[in-house]
Amino acid sequence: MDGLMMNRPLLQSSLLDFAAESFPNSEIVSRRVEGDLHRQGWAQTRARAVQLSLALQDLGIGMGDRVATLAWNGHRHLEIYHAVPAIGAVCHTINPRLSPEQMCFIAHHAGDGMLFTDLTFVPLLEKLKDQLPTMRFVIMTDRAHMPENGLDALCYEDLLEGRATDREWPEFPETTASGLCYTSGTTGDPKGTLYSHRSNMLHSLATAAVLGPDLGIQPRILPVVPLFHVNAWGLPFTAPLIGASLVMPGPHLDGASLWDLCQSEGVQSAWGVPTIWQGLYAEMKARGAKPEALRHIVVGGSAMPRSLTEGFEKLGIDVNHAWGMTETSPLGSQGSLSADKRDLPFDRRMDLKQTQGRRVFGVEMKIIGDDGTRQPHDGKAMGELYVRGSTVAAGYYKNPDASAKAIDKDGWFGTGDIASIAPDSTLTLRDRAKDLIKSGGEWISSIDVENLALAHPGIAQCAVIAMPHPKWDERPLMVVKCAGDARPTLEEICTTLETHLARWQFPDDVVYVEEMPLTATGKISKLTLRERFKDHVLPDLR
Ligand code: ADP
Repeated sequence: MDGLMMNRPLLQSSLLDFAAESFPNSEIVSRRVEGDLHRQGWAQTRARAVQLSLALQDLGIGMGDRVATLAWNGHRHLEIYHAVPAIGAVCHTINPRLSPEQMCFIAHHAGDGMLFTDLTFVPLLEKLKDQLPTMRFVIMTDRAHMPENGLDALCYEDLLEGRATDREWPEFPETTASGLCYTSGTTGDPKGTLYSHRSNMLHSLATAAVLGPDLGIQPRILPVVPLFHVNAWGLPFTAPLIGASLVMPGPHLDGASLWDLCQSEGVQSAWGVPTIWQGLYAEMKARGAKPEALRHIVVGGSAMPRSLTEGFEKLGIDVNHAWGMTETSPLGSQGSLSADKRDLPFDRRMDLKQTQGRRVFGVEMKIIGDDGTRQPHDGKAMGELYVRGSTVAAGYYKNPDASAKAIDKDGWFGTGDIASIAPDSTLTLRDRAKDLIKSGGEWISSIDVENLALAHPGIAQCAVIAMPHPKWDERPLMVVKCAGDARPTLEEICTTLETHLARWQFPDDVVYVEEMPLTATGKISKLTLRERFKDHVLPDLR
């Protein structure tokens, strides 16, 4: 027997409606690329999203169309985030830290017809224009700042001007796609995770449920995590739900800029990857003070170093260590301490904060050992982490091969992380099965670097391994077996990578071996190489 309750679709447009009505004055503060500090409430954000949605429809954008963004965190980007899905189109965020080649691949694969960009990226897009012949460009600025450009671009504020500020949003099934975000593949090209209205709504409800108590009432939150990284960890959708104010930092993410913004805007909770917190912590030490209102940090994307967690905690800032992936919307587990753990001695609490925390409601977890069997959740047994839930990707956009590899026969998604799980669901990441290096929160595919480097005639075999790094978390080291007597230099190798990769994806150093160690199946044993070069010191740390 069916329940007798209304079956209203979970649509993201309801978030804006709710915030505009219930929290009209919670603010979106944006440090804009134009140099000023802009403020608007949720009511105005909704009004502007309505205007943008009408403009998009006039430009022919409708159900299922992909609309790309290449932009920093700011109110216009947030408006696009809400306006595009509200009319049934798909908001595709492109990561500007990728190489131009990777960006073009993604835009083509996604089938983007329109691209919104900040002023920052206009020169880059002018260079790429010929590779994106059918793309329509919109520059996210006003008439006064509109640059001369070779993009034949529209001006964002012109699109909004004079339009109605209220409307009834269209209705469609909640399973409709709403967002698209590409993530590095362990092999081959980036893969797209296609979020739905339903998955984003459930994700924001779950996030609000687990983080809400620590965030407090109508908190002021700084998303340092970019809108092009898994929906800024869902904040554009969770914030309107809880009436939060968002303080958008724009492109300035160094410690001093973040310190000043936190202080002047009374930021209480800030979200980002460990590299960002290294910078802010150094600034706090240098100034001998923390930004007054700051009391909560959400950190994820890479493991948070214990010393940094302890540093913040000693200054009265609660560090919430979370785990997630692009494919999990992203929140999978998070480390707010349960009530019975909050009065434990400092060291014990820091032990718990080193873990990736307990699973979030709606995300089931299992670990599979080397022998293919499910391992107990006893905090000791290790295996590859698999997850399942309504906020987890069921596959990759237009990529049946990668989808088939990612999902096991029982419908669970393989994360490529090696973990243990305690009886209370506390997750601890132990290693990574995927061949990726994470630098400053961004991926470097070792396999991509290796394949490209092999184009150098002096390289017979090569392997790229992660070296720990105090600032970037990990940096790539290339191990080379030479093809002849001459040793290809780092500079020469980087020249072969130049057109395909972004500079920060280049190896930091190169070492040479006579023979590559191999595994039983004949693959290069990276485990052996990691062990052999564990004491190697990268050039910038010497
Ligand atoms: P995000 O943009 O949130 O970093 P990605 O999909 O790029 O998401 O990366 C997800 C991967 O990052 C995970 O599979 C894991 O390897 C790593 N990761 C995420 N959070 C943590 C964490 N708290 N500790 C260690 N590694 C993490």
